[in-house]
Amino acid sequence: MQTVTLIPGDGIGPEITEAVVSILKEAGAEIEWDIQTAGADVAEKEGTPLPDRVIDSIKRNKVALKAPVTTPIGKGFRSVNVQLRKSLDLYANLRPCKNIEGIKTRFDNVDLVVVRENTEDLYAGIERQIDENSAESIKIITRKASLRISEFAFDYAVKNNRKTVTAVTKANICKLTDGLFLNCAREIADKYPEIEYKEILVDNLCMQLVQNPEKFDVLVLPNLYGDIVSDLGAGLIGGLGIAQGANIGLETAVFEPVHGSAPDIKGQNKANPTALLLSAIEMLKYINQKNIAEKIEKVLYKVIKEGKVLTCDLKGNASTSEFTKEIIRNL
Ligand code: ATP
Repeated sequence: MQTVTLIPGDGIGPEITEAVVSILKEAGAEIEWDIQTAGADVAEKEGTPLPDRVIDSIKRNKVALKAPVTTPIGKGFRSVNVQLRKSLDLYANLRPCKNIEGIKTRFDNVDLVVVRENTEDLYAGIERQIDENSAESIKIITRKASLRISEFAFDYAVKNNRKTVTAVTKANICKLTDGLFLNCAREIADKYPEIEYKEILVDNLCMQLVQNPEKFDVLVLPNLYGDIVSDLGAGLIGGLGIAQGANIGLETAVFEPVHGSAPDIKGQNKANPTALLLSAIEMLKYINQKNIAEKIEKVLYKVIKEGKVLTCDLKGNASTSEFTKEIIRNL
């Protein structure tokens, strides 16, 4: 039995969490959940959306499954997601984007992986109001963070039989910051002669991704470009409802969907739990419960391929609970 921190989050978080927990239980996952609330409601009661108990729980358990958490706006709180990633040093954000059979998209051969640096860049949050009409934000890029994210990307490529790693920057404009990132990527590339290494500017990448996404394999990017490109990747495969992610550090991993708390559909039993379920499947693999992971994966893909019971975001008319029941029935 493995203890895993579970953050049900807010917005659609609790609904999709309930769905995923019931699927994992039915599939026989050997998990004891250490439930830790966080987000807007918690901020009202505990004065912060991310109390220390949440961080302590993840440090203790080393693994977490996290639904989206809202950071209350305009109350001076730092983003919960950024804070979590920074305080646990979850330096790599991994977002695989692969077509799922049965989900119609413009392309049917997308299979790329976005490896996003997770701790610095403009997310360092160093901003300053200069005067009434101007403000500035400082972009931090360090050698240490750039080397380790590049190493992560190449190591991932080797372990997952990938062929190419492409470093994505805007080094023609941000010569010092993105230039440093690129130099670090080149340095690591030299250590992996078996993996082809390429470079591309982020604007060019965006254009090519919407024309020929099949050309790309593993992408490694600084934080901000990584954030934007991973949403683009989610769009290529059918939207945020199916886009999974993981934040990985040396000792700890937090698995979470790419999407946010979707307040527009909160409490309507409409949300697609697939992105959180795919994140949970990756988590099961990470904690060595591969058989259970594959069992759920097979059923999920079967239900989607059949196309009879799908949520609205996938052009179906099933509710969250009907989709969940269909998966459980097939298990
Ligand atoms: P954040 O800034 O936290 O990423 P956001 O409002 O920019 O949040 P999301 O909350 O991810 O973005 O929502 C973007 C759109 O995608 C919304 O219209 C939302 O309803 C839809 N959406 C997001 N997740 C899902 C899901 N799991 N199922 C169905 N629709 C979703």
